[in-house]
Amino acid sequence: MLSATGGPLVNGHDVLLVDLDGVVYVGESAVEHAVPVLTEVAARGVRVGYVTNNARRTPQEVAAHLSAFGLGVQPTDVVTSAQAGARLVAEVVTSGERVLAIGGPGVAEALRERGFVPVRTAAENPVAVMQGFGPDVSWRDLAEGAYALATGVPFVATNLDRTIPTPQGRAPGNGTLVAVLTTATGVVPRVAGKPESPLMLESIDRLGAKNPLVIGDRLDTDIEAGVRLDIPTLLVLTGVSGVPELLAAAPHERPRHLSLDLRGLLEVHPPIVIDGQSVVCRQARVHSERQGLRVDQRGDDWVDLLRAAVSACWSAADEGHPLDAAQVVKAISEP
Ligand SMILES: [Mg+2]
Repeated sequence: MLSATGGPLVNGHDVLLVDLDGVVYVGESAVEHAVPVLTEVAARGVRVGYVTNNARRTPQEVAAHLSAFGLGVQPTDVVTSAQAGARLVAEVVTSGERVLAIGGPGVAEALRERGFVPVRTAAENPVAVMQGFGPDVSWRDLAEGAYALATGVPFVATNLDRTIPTPQGRAPGNGTLVAVLTTATGVVPRVAGKPESPLMLESIDRLGAKNPLVIGDRLDTDIEAGVRLDIPTLLVLTGVSGVPELLAAAPHERPRHLSLDLRGLLEVHPPIVIDGQSVVCRQARVHSERQGLRVDQRGDDWVDLLRAAVSACWSAADEGHPLDAAQVVKAISEP
């Protein structure tokens, strides 16, 4: 259920847990409104944390990348799935031990930060294996992982994203490479990244959050991670998840707040009133019936119409008669 706020959404929170790709930037370009809104939020005294499933880069590299867009970001404002993965390793392995690091520089760096000694071969007798994304991960690296896992040591994956966006299209992500090792060895890793909880818990600890807000563009990673820990969430429509997925979202991946982009942080979010089969959001009113969704009043803000339609879809699905997302998209798009 989408929730109302008494004032601008950001006012109720001390720390934002902001996803990167699809929220702050897409490829080499900043997402529209992201830089001015996040700058304004920071000026109001809210801490902006950047939380990424991508383990390849170190927090220093991520901070430098974000600073190039004009954001004031320190490495300590960034939390990566590699750091959360190292936390999982630390739960089962004593500090100072050798850990096989498969992946980019961020993986070895996060292990070092926790006091482990990252190594590259099974011959060095590592007591755990941690795998995160790296574009140069080779068959030889994966073979070393298989040799190490054959000795029965624990296996941690930073994240299981199947794909990773590149300028040329979707390429295999860490989850795909982890699946190679799992296929070869039968060993299933513990996972740190979203939607699993360790990355969020690590971020809350490092950023000292008391009332965090999770912000993301993906229902199946960012939003689900927030829902699992009962942390409020904001979905922005600047990245992967679009209106059809949102209308069809299952309860475990429904955001608490919804806006087109990060400007939604500075806005008051309206109440949704469900009255029988009708749903009202400010001036927008929709009615769900057997044939589909009917728009009774469009109002002057399309996002309110979308919020009403989303609420109608979720409540119809929960009552056991889901609406057809394609029909709803058409209904709310028609002028
Ligand atoms: Mg994203």
